[in-house]
Amino acid sequence: MPRPVLAVALALLASLPLAAISLISVNDEIKLGRETQGQVRKQVPQLADQAITDYVTKVGRRLAARAAGPKYPYSFSVANYRELNAFALPGGPVWIHRGILHAAANESQLAGVLAHEVAHIAQRHAADQLTKQLVANGLLGLLGAMLGNDGGGARTAQVGAQILANGYMLKFSRDDEREADRIGLTILQRAGWDPRGMPEFMETLRRAQGRDPGSVETFLSSHPAPGERAAVLRRSLGSRASGRRDTAEFRAIKARAQRLPPAKAMKATK
Ligand SMILES: [Zn+2]
Repeated sequence: MPRPVLAVALALLASLPLAAISLISVNDEIKLGRETQGQVRKQVPQLADQAITDYVTKVGRRLAARAAGPKYPYSFSVANYRELNAFALPGGPVWIHRGILHAAANESQLAGVLAHEVAHIAQRHAADQLTKQLVANGLLGLLGAMLGNDGGGARTAQVGAQILANGYMLKFSRDDEREADRIGLTILQRAGWDPRGMPEFMETLRRAQGRDPGSVETFLSSHPAPGERAAVLRRSLGSRASGRRDTAEFRAIKARAQRLPPAKAMKATK
């Protein structure tokens, strides 16, 4: 590869305000999310309980209706895993592990977990991360395109293949995580839940870390320390705290989940 071309390309990339642009359109993001969702469904044991799935979907949709940003086709699924984890795919799909239902003490805590994931999607964090990956890994393709090879056209498919190859859980930046907490808290509040549910559940995660580290390992590998997150949220809440904390429906759904055969362990299936 001729050196001057590489130098020009690198200078060009360095001049792009990366934080401000996304090379992934909303439609591409939704398409990638659908593809990834198909892969996740093959890898993850989905909880086959309609009442529980319907309930989680109802809570999730109520939150998504209060999220700013593009009107993504949000969907909510429950993985039959015992570990405390939740994740968002690009452009709409949200998953929680069944363990979250067992660990949440009230509906506002469950809604807090979902609100954080909805915020990741609404703030387009996946598109930001994919743009970064594209720039980091797609550099050669981009250079190829500049040199006249047709490397740029299949960009979306390429990036899609990369996410799938790296596992379906995208690693967001610490800033993304802080933003998802902040925006998620607002969404939770606007949708009518007691926002204290969010820091409360983080305390639950922190306690789980001491008692059963394996149950939060995956979650903690991708998120800042829950104690710190809870403290930041509590400071931002101050004395503002009102809203729905719990419902009979949540208690019935939680009891239902507890009566089902035990949830699977993630490790055993990997
Ligand atoms: Zn997150």
